[in-house]
Amino acid sequence: MKSQDIRQAFLNFFQEKKHSIVPSAPMVLKNDPTLMFVNSGMAPFKEFFLGNAEPKNNRIADTQKCLRVSGKHNDLEEVGYDTYHHTLFEMLGNWSFGDYFKKEAIAWAWELLTEVYGIDKDILYVTVFEGSDDDKLPMDQEAYDFWKELISEDRILMGNKKDNFWEMGDQGPCGPCSEIHVDIRSDEEKAKVDGKSLVNMDHPQVVEIWNLVFMQYNRKANGSLENLPAKHIDTGMGFERLCMVLQGVQSNYDTDVFTPIIREIETITNKDYGTNDKVDIAIRVVSDHVRAVAFSIADGQLPSNTGAGYVIRRILRRAVRYGFTFLDKKEPFIYRLVDVLVKKMGKAFPELKEQKQLIENVVKEEESSFLRTLDQGLLLLDRIISNAKSKEISGKKVFELKDTYGFPEDLTDLILREKGYTYNHDEFEQKLKEQQERGKQASQLKSDDWTVLVEDEEQEFIGYDTTEANVKLVQYRKVTSKKDGEMYQLVFNLTPFYAEGGGQVGDKGYLEDASGDIIYIVDTKKENNVIIHFAKNLPKDIHATFKASVDTKQRNRTECNHTATHLLHQALREVLGTHVEQKGSAVHSKYLRFDFSHFAKLTVEELRDVENFVNSRIEGKLPLQEQRNIPMDKAIEEGAMALFGEKYGDTVRTVRFGQSIELCGGTHVKNTGDIWHFKIVSEGAVAAGIRRIEAITNDAVKDFYFENNRAYFEMKDLLNNAKEPVKALQNLQEENSDLKKQIENLLKEKAKSIKGDLKNEISEVNGVQFLAKKIDLDASGIKDLCFELGSQFDNLFLLFGAENDGKAILSCYISKELVASKDLNAGTIVRELGKYIQGGGGGQPFFATAGGKNPDGLEHALQAVKSYLD
Ligand code: ATP
Ligand code: MG
Repeated sequence: MKSQDIRQAFLNFFQEKKHSIVPSAPMVLKNDPTLMFVNSGMAPFKEFFLGNAEPKNNRIADTQKCLRVSGKHNDLEEVGYDTYHHTLFEMLGNWSFGDYFKKEAIAWAWELLTEVYGIDKDILYVTVFEGSDDDKLPMDQEAYDFWKELISEDRILMGNKKDNFWEMGDQGPCGPCSEIHVDIRSDEEKAKVDGKSLVNMDHPQVVEIWNLVFMQYNRKANGSLENLPAKHIDTGMGFERLCMVLQGVQSNYDTDVFTPIIREIETITNKDYGTNDKVDIAIRVVSDHVRAVAFSIADGQLPSNTGAGYVIRRILRRAVRYGFTFLDKKEPFIYRLVDVLVKKMGKAFPELKEQKQLIENVVKEEESSFLRTLDQGLLLLDRIISNAKSKEISGKKVFELKDTYGFPEDLTDLILREKGYTYNHDEFEQKLKEQQERGKQASQLKSDDWTVLVEDEEQEFIGYDTTEANVKLVQYRKVTSKKDGEMYQLVFNLTPFYAEGGGQVGDKGYLEDASGDIIYIVDTKKENNVIIHFAKNLPKDIHATFKASVDTKQRNRTECNHTATHLLHQALREVLGTHVEQKGSAVHSKYLRFDFSHFAKLTVEELRDVENFVNSRIEGKLPLQEQRNIPMDKAIEEGAMALFGEKYGDTVRTVRFGQSIELCGGTHVKNTGDIWHFKIVSEGAVAAGIRRIEAITNDAVKDFYFENNRAYFEMKDLLNNAKEPVKALQNLQEENSDLKKQIENLLKEKAKSIKGDLKNEISEVNGVQFLAKKIDLDASGIKDLCFELGSQFDNLFLLFGAENDGKAILSCYISKELVASKDLNAGTIVRELGKYIQGGGGGQPFFATAGGKNPDGLEHALQAVKSYLD
């Protein structure tokens, strides 16, 4: 069975069982502070399990893109070494939200595997939760009884809390689970070792394929469990592992999900898969990681220096490293695999196909830049080795290479070993641990249980229409973090506060009770579909009615920027072409930022056209036309643009200003005239093929012009109120460059005469033509002098000191033949002599300079240099 058909058969099966089939949610989570990436099929449905929202159909099935590279589930280091863990994989799942429970979940899983897919019952094992004393939970007898109807009892195994009790996080819904395992070893091996003893023992051919989770408890902050009001089913089956079983192979990488990519890697690298362990690991790493990276970029997450972007960058770099070291690829090649990947997966995941060009560009650029880092790291490592006093390099140095230059430890290790060196692993680990500890402390967040004041209150956002309302507190909790200290999270029955989302910042404002007591709301965010208001304190009377007021000044400015963002998007597509797609935006009160796909720097004319386009829409005073709760299809039909990587419901909100129409949940001005004016303040690149524009509107533009005007008059003043200040400035510049030339000529003359004198002062010491002297020239004059003398003398060693504007400079020149024969290095020498002038420097072995703040030390340095000639 081909992988496409396997996926389809799963979806068809559950469709027949009355499940709604939904597309995979984007893998990158934008509004979940507890999770960066979807790491299991249930993550997109958290709000349903928590009871914060109701699904349309309480039976759902899908295949979900999952990434397990950070946080609670992190399989990254396994990937490549084993044959059944991936970074990115598809999880097939079926869900019941308060509908069917254990009986059906178990029976249907069994029917699908054994009847639809025709898997032999004799290669399957199932597990059941054995109970836990800690949690005072008995064994899951219910599940056991259902299983025993279907499978012989000697194939039902008891599992402990670690394997058979599933928890969403430290708090929240959880419950016992039943896993289904396959044993795909040969008969011969089965005869030798009983499969039962290998279940959950990390054997590559006795693996878990499906996990059926029975959510029936809620874990509270104090660790205790309570029953959930409604019971749910959450199942997850590894698609690639299922393909392995159904295609009769022994490794996920031998299924048709991976073989086309692996064949391409073989062709590009001229290596064969299956002939050498190291090469095989590298090929698996690359074939896996290219998928993770491509899917993330398609979902709008570009590699970057922070957060989720950094995780993606690290995955790609891991692939580059394995390619570099074991497949001998010293130039970018991973981007060339995107084509086969898209051919293979583009049908099931159309976002890949549509974003192909961008993915290739970004991957290629990332590869090139990391390869440059590797080159630089190799040079640094060479230097460390040549300066080493023993055969063991300090762990601190290796850590610095990794931390500051991104040069990976395993590569350092490999190179050192090749050259007969080692490094202090303990010291390295110590440094790493210290760093991780610092990171952990900074991000640690402790949250109490919610205190619920009013049950089952459907919370309503009314902030599109008003910025003030009377509200009641329905639940709150305390959270503590290193960064913000103690904070309270407040949830109201209704709220005018906009929660951060869609690029727009959350509202700030305050609450006031009848007695005039005020609580400031410092931020508003959404978590699992609940709008949470952040405050430093809890109101005195939590049961009071409060007047909640949004900071309207800030909100209005933000709205100007949000509407301007839409107009900018439209303008860019108009001026540059429809290849422009939004790749990210940040709408603040002070400015807006917009990232988009485009392949060249914008010209001055293009920028002006874009500005003019937006400003003409502002002058046109276009009214806001919004539609709330219209069906997604209808919105698309009307021309609304959907963004990749954004999760939309069945019904959406559209925001239209003239011809600009977008799917958007943000708040906007009532009329574009309110924006007053739009001004671009910067344009630049963020990644290959992605540009960023920053712009301002309204008050910020007024400030901008005011500031510019002030600067202009100040400048004019400095130019003695010249009538034509630009011309006056040009004259000054010309005069200045004339003067510079004259000085240069004078200095050259001076250097000539100095050179004549110096030649006679060079003396021979131990076979070296040597001179160390303080002279009166600037740095570039000294450099010229050094090289001129160098062309006239062999075996020359010069050290010149000079004082410029109260600062000290040291310049050292060493003939190339001396560098080689006497093992002298100008770079090292000036760095060491730098201590005399309280400074530092460096350069190349034959010429280097140091600068410092203590000219009095020059004489010392000129004396000390003689020791290098001994
Ligand atoms: P394992 O113990 O094999 O790591 P798990 O207990 O982490 O699996 P679950 O969290 O229960 O797995 O996920 C459900 C299913 O998803 C598993 O039964 C397996 O088929 C699949 N799966 C889990 N992790 C991976 C991965 N890293 N790569 C591919 N498939 C996976
Ligand atoms: Mg796992």
